[in-house]
Amino acid sequence: MRPYELHSFDFAFTHAVIGMALVSFDGTLLKWNSALSALLGYDHSELLTSSSSVRTLLSQIREIAELEESFSSFNIHPHRYQQDYYKPTGQLLCLEISISIISDTNGAPQYYFIQFENKTIIKQIETQLQEVETNLLEKDDSFLQLLEELPLTVVITINGIVQYANSAGLQLIHAESLDQVLGSSTTSIVDLSNYQILQERRERYHSGNTSGSVCYLINCLNGQQKYVDGFTLPIIFNGSKAFIGIFKDISQQMLEEERLIQSEKLSTAGQLAAGIAHEIRNPLTAINGFMKLLRSSERMNDKYFFIIESELKRIEFIVNELLVLSKPQTTHISKPVDLLSLLEQVTTLMNGQAALRNLKILPVCADQPIWIHGEAYQLKQVFINLLKNAMEAMNNGGNIYIHVHTTESESRISVQDEGCGMSEEQIKALGKPFYTTKESGTGLGFMITQNIVHNHGGAITVESIPEQGTTFTVTLPMILEPEEAAI
Ligand code: ADP
Ligand code: MG
Repeated sequence: MRPYELHSFDFAFTHAVIGMALVSFDGTLLKWNSALSALLGYDHSELLTSSSSVRTLLSQIREIAELEESFSSFNIHPHRYQQDYYKPTGQLLCLEISISIISDTNGAPQYYFIQFENKTIIKQIETQLQEVETNLLEKDDSFLQLLEELPLTVVITINGIVQYANSAGLQLIHAESLDQVLGSSTTSIVDLSNYQILQERRERYHSGNTSGSVCYLINCLNGQQKYVDGFTLPIIFNGSKAFIGIFKDISQQMLEEERLIQSEKLSTAGQLAAGIAHEIRNPLTAINGFMKLLRSSERMNDKYFFIIESELKRIEFIVNELLVLSKPQTTHISKPVDLLSLLEQVTTLMNGQAALRNLKILPVCADQPIWIHGEAYQLKQVFINLLKNAMEAMNNGGNIYIHVHTTESESRISVQDEGCGMSEEQIKALGKPFYTTKESGTGLGFMITQNIVHNHGGAITVESIPEQGTTFTVTLPMILEPEEAAI
């Protein structure tokens, strides 16, 4: 072995061009090289009795190292960060400090190994570059002119505070002048319901990831709310890290979508009406018959009254359901719902239409209630849509089966028909808005169904054999029996 290999660590340490030090866990300098004392502006031996700025530097290093250790991040990489430092001459340095832990042969941590690199020049070049970019943005009138004339909203924010908005932006938010928006926080502009998205995007930005497209609901100055869709990019503005956001008003588009969904619901309600008239006719005939009997009988018969009453209730239920279904539902209240009784109500509602088409919906067999957390009205919509599609797939009569299967944590409800079935392509296209193979179809039913199931933390699958039939299976998470229920 040649002599310099013997103490290769010592040799490398002493002669390194990068400042290096070994520091004890209580922050005392144990060993340092001359590159470090030169960098910090002291003679080699002076460093131990050095000024407060070196002491501050060491205590900061210790604090950061302890914090990192608590996250145990040292196991993977040394921790690097940048720190300003004033030399005794008053010169400001930007140091890049890298902290690792040196352990003994048994793996027990011994002390911190710290490297100091001078990044002052690089930092200066970066600052100059930022200034050039800022100047471009500020002084290049044509650039600002371009932003002003853009039909899209352009906003520039620093730390979530508006610094600039173009005229399209002012118009969007119903501001008369720039003063009304300058200095406002994006937190007050973006609706609270989107606050989490906003927060996540800020965090992504700070962790160095650039941001992509986003859709927000925003509050305008006149109290109106609008949907905007766009994207944000990190830029330098006035020498600071900023965001430029470019947005389009999509409120009209959202409204159209809402209207279409509503029209699908109305068409379902309209079709159900035919079946419901059929359903109502039966109890009315029964009531009529009993009224005649009552008139002719001497004694009042409790049994007749009971039947009349229950048939009237049935009519009331069916008519109410139709009314609820045709009304846009604005309130969204999740409650415990018994799926079994919900399915029973839905089949009652659909039986009339089934009978008109010479179809039978076979009743669900299960003795225990199945509790899930959700919106009864929306869940009804799921099974109405599935049953309606099943019926529309069966032109020559037949049966529709509803099976319920529960495991410990979830319930699986399948709607099985004996209809025309679907090809592979049809299955793939399912759920795309406006995909329909029917002359008067809207192609929205399945999409709505799927959305509702997903919003309830569930899933929906399909199995189908052409000419034999289709089975849709809805899986929903179950809850324990509740004290208070919606249905
Ligand atoms: P719509 O019923 O208005 O056509 P949906 O979104 O409800 O719209 O259904 C989309 C398409 O999926 C239907 O047009 C049909 O081709 C197919 N489909 C859905 N359910 C079934 C089913 N049970 N059997 C056969 N095809 C079905
Ligand atoms: Mg449909």
